[in-house]
Amino acid sequence: MKLEKYSMGIGDRFGKEGLAQLSAMIRANAEGKLIVPVWNKSNREHSIIHTQPKDARVEADSAVKQGEWSAPYHVDADHINLSNVDGFIECSDFFTLDVAETIGAEPSAEALDAFIAKAGKYAGSLTIDGIDAKLEITDGAIREIGMKFISPIKTAGEIYRHVLASKGEGNFITEVSVDESDQPQTPVEMLFILMLIADEGIPAQTIAPKFTGRFNKGVDYVGDVAKFEQEFREDIAVIRFAIKEFGLPENLKLSVHSGSDKFSIYKAINKAITDFDTGLHLKTAGTTWLEELIGLAEADGEGLAIAKEIYAKAFGRFDELCKPYATVIDIDPGKLPSPEVVNGWTPAQYANALRHDQTCAEYNPHVRQLLHVGYKVAAELGERYLNALDACAESVHRNVTENIYARHLRPVFFGA
Ligand SMILES: [Zn+2]
Repeated sequence: MKLEKYSMGIGDRFGKEGLAQLSAMIRANAEGKLIVPVWNKSNREHSIIHTQPKDARVEADSAVKQGEWSAPYHVDADHINLSNVDGFIECSDFFTLDVAETIGAEPSAEALDAFIAKAGKYAGSLTIDGIDAKLEITDGAIREIGMKFISPIKTAGEIYRHVLASKGEGNFITEVSVDESDQPQTPVEMLFILMLIADEGIPAQTIAPKFTGRFNKGVDYVGDVAKFEQEFREDIAVIRFAIKEFGLPENLKLSVHSGSDKFSIYKAINKAITDFDTGLHLKTAGTTWLEELIGLAEADGEGLAIAKEIYAKAFGRFDELCKPYATVIDIDPGKLPSPEVVNGWTPAQYANALRHDQTCAEYNPHVRQLLHVGYKVAAELGERYLNALDACAESVHRNVTENIYARHLRPVFFGA
């Protein structure tokens, strides 16, 4: 099973927007770009919303049928490890192996020696086609990289072989994710991570590094765009080198996690994938649910009332909701309007505060981030929330499609 050149990971917390999401890909496809949808949902999301991995499969199949989509699509077991992968095996055909827990776990002396012996041949100045500067690789760096990444990539190998035993070779796509680590990976680290992946026999088609800068949930990139661009291009060049050097799948490409809403780096990403003629997997951060809230607010009446109620409850449970996401959000509580203020908002005021349009004076990234992590509140409303989505389907679907198409597919894949 081969992943197409361009793909986008789309999350749908409440499972009602599959067709609205797919409609964005249908539109892009009609305009000449095939971007394969990959519905992803992590174990954490499933447990908060009380859904099962098979629900994501049912949703994807039904969206594809209704949208008459004849190109490939996939269902991603997102950030899984050995402790939770079993529930995902049957219904998924894309596995994002998460190794964050073992990053930095000490490898055995034999494994470290073998790695150093093999990696040593790249020590010194390494010329990589497509990068101006040579990669400077010291013996010390090689040892450090071995100490840090041998164990996690071995773990990735264990998860991969566990899935392989059930699904059989060639029946699924494998992504290796090292994005949930404290430090971004350098291109030199990327090179040796890929060597380790090849040694483990993992046919990775996507690799998700941690990039330089902040990739907060649902808001724009914060960091040095020029530095990001340079590293992103170096990563692509290193991948191209590693495919030949280590015999990795020829379609191996970068996966950008929390890639939604990173408007200030989309130009650099588009330019890099165009210049190198390479693919990309853009994984979003479950922001479709925010478009649901915007659609509810715009529908006025009961829709707006429930959107306000969710804000008020999320405001009151700030600490509890933010805690699991502390490292990937930056909310200034002083910039959050009180529920009393929000209760007085018109549909347009609510939508403007939440919609990710930085040119709009009313846009409030603090409100947006709080609501982003507040999906638990909507989950607790149960049927009431789901019924409101049905009642306001037109404005909800319109916002969901428009967000993916205009704010993501156009700039990232069309360069527009
Ligand atoms: Zn991730």
